[in-house]
Amino acid sequence: MTDSMTKETRLTLIYILIAFTFSVAMRMIWYYNFIDVEAFKFNGQLMINTNDGYVWAEGARDILSGINQDNDFSPITSAASRLTALFAYILPFSFETVILFLPVFLSSLVVIPIILIAKGLDNLEMGLITALLASIAWSYYNRTMIGYLDTDMLNIVLPMFLLWSIIWAIKTNEDKYLIITALDVLIYRWWYPQSYALEFSFFGLILFYALIWDRKNLYNYKLLAIMMFAMINLDGFIRFPLVLAAYYIFKQEKLQKYIYYILAISIVLFFYTGGFNPIWGKLKIYVFKDVVSAGEEGLKLHFYSVMQTVREAGHIPFETFANRISGHVITFVLSIIGFVYLAYRHKIMLFAVPMIGLGFLASVGGLRFTIYAVPILAFGAAFLITEISRFMPTNKLKYLSMIAFAMAILYPNYKHIEEYRVPTVFNADEVKILSELGSVADREDYVLSWWDYGYPIRYYSDVKTLIDGNKHLGYMNFPVSFMLTQPQNIAAKMARLDVEYTEKAFKVQDKNKNLETSKKVKLFSNIEEMTKDYGFSDTNDFLLSLETDIKLADKTRDIYFYLPFRMLNIYPTVNMFSNIDLMTGEMKQQPLFYISKMFKQEKNILNLGRGVVFDLQKQSIKLGNKELPVKRFVTTAYDENMKLQKDIKVSSSMADISVIYMKNYNTFLVIDEKIYNSLYVQLMILEEYDKSLFEEVLLNPHAKVYKLKI
Ligand code: MN
Repeated sequence: MTDSMTKETRLTLIYILIAFTFSVAMRMIWYYNFIDVEAFKFNGQLMINTNDGYVWAEGARDILSGINQDNDFSPITSAASRLTALFAYILPFSFETVILFLPVFLSSLVVIPIILIAKGLDNLEMGLITALLASIAWSYYNRTMIGYLDTDMLNIVLPMFLLWSIIWAIKTNEDKYLIITALDVLIYRWWYPQSYALEFSFFGLILFYALIWDRKNLYNYKLLAIMMFAMINLDGFIRFPLVLAAYYIFKQEKLQKYIYYILAISIVLFFYTGGFNPIWGKLKIYVFKDVVSAGEEGLKLHFYSVMQTVREAGHIPFETFANRISGHVITFVLSIIGFVYLAYRHKIMLFAVPMIGLGFLASVGGLRFTIYAVPILAFGAAFLITEISRFMPTNKLKYLSMIAFAMAILYPNYKHIEEYRVPTVFNADEVKILSELGSVADREDYVLSWWDYGYPIRYYSDVKTLIDGNKHLGYMNFPVSFMLTQPQNIAAKMARLDVEYTEKAFKVQDKNKNLETSKKVKLFSNIEEMTKDYGFSDTNDFLLSLETDIKLADKTRDIYFYLPFRMLNIYPTVNMFSNIDLMTGEMKQQPLFYISKMFKQEKNILNLGRGVVFDLQKQSIKLGNKELPVKRFVTTAYDENMKLQKDIKVSSSMADISVIYMKNYNTFLVIDEKIYNSLYVQLMILEEYDKSLFEEVLLNPHAKVYKLKI
């Protein structure tokens, strides 16, 4: 090694270290903001802040304890769970600490490929500035902050390493980049199976480049072939030796004449194993607008779809989009200009275009895609900065101006981090209930709640759930929504039926696995199976029959309801999923549900906001310009032993509207009779449970658990 090489290598390492430390330090801001908040802690450590993180944590927990439970949806074979388990196993920290900090360190690795790419362009300063910006830019930070345990923690790191190895492969034609590229594809695919989109785009670009500009260079075809072997649709344990074999052949001087054949074989294998199918499937949906046809058999029930509750993404404002990618509109515009200039000066950077493309998909596919464009456009801003600084008269001024410009583009992102104080998913009281429930309930028991709470319930209580962050289609949500919003006796029956039908369906699926397609038993939604089993052809008739004394499915396990107070805020959404006529798909009239945490009292008049006014004297309520009598006025409060005390004043027994004042929560509820009688309001808000159907298990003001007795 010459002296200049060692100096450059040393500088590269120093820059990587600076950027990595910076990225970690910025992510510690959240930690120090909340370090003293006991309500955010479990087992002495701050809890995580993304729902989805709990599913990876569940998988890791089961891997470590060696538990393999059928149909519990614990992702014990997922890469995210395996990596989490590995770190929890080898590191001397608590499991809670590992799941909190893992995103901090993994996502910060993004600075390495960034600085290495810049090294290849002989512009290390650009690399450092890019790494500083990309590691903390708005959307990348949001999706990789401390406690954000999700695949995103490596979803940019891995394609950036891939981009680096492709760029260096094309630039140097060195053999080692062949194997590095292929290994990166293997790891990236293992980590994130949807990675095929980016891999295929990179492959296409290299092919295009080779055919147009560098047709005679055998190296390009070696690169393409080894990438293709890494991308075929076979298990990683088969692809890995294939990649090694290809690499071995490519190294043999006398086998060079077979390279075209090997490339051809790899492409045939790719198509033959169905490697192109997912890409083709996406094209059909997005480009050819292929409609997924609904089944022709069965009752053809109509369910409410989750997509309908996620407000139409529609048009994302330019400013939001720009902020997400660069932290500021000006930085974003400069980044685009800078990247165009960078690609003009260093054509090789055009290989990064697929990542910008994926980032810009955010305008149709949702904001989460913006993270892909973050590092590439950060290169643009950083290149502009280093180019401008070159005009400075002295070296000192050159570096000072670089630092000043870098601080200017970092500042809005720092401000965002400082202000982005997302809470933990659950608070300590809710988790206390769940972890105690875990020692009461069996692993095969079900805990029913809304899907938002599915993963954390499974993590803290180690039980089964009906719906969760991945399993929440309209037909899955319907029964749970129905239970939470119907009277107790109806809800109880539906709970027993849906759990037993869910387990029955698992058995049918297991049997189906070994049958030929034609002999497989066709499964419909649980609610449709119930309707038919009870001899109805109209689901509405079946649902009505739940009010009568029907014979229930045999009880195979215990069922618990987990009812957190926070669900009150999403009650109207929960209700939506069963507020539909399944036969016609028509939505029913929305029940009255009004929640107020901001109210003003003047003498006997209580103003609950938004034109809702409660007259305490007349016991009537004004909703806009309608004045209606109030059936009951209920006040609830917890005494010093945390026991719920209620005061129920009935003033107009024929009326439909009740007002509930929950003193300790400082919250008013204005609801109609349907909601008043619902399981959620009766069990959570009023603790008025039917002793023949339910028993109290664990109660605190934040969450309540009841066990089903039937
Ligand atoms: Mn389990």
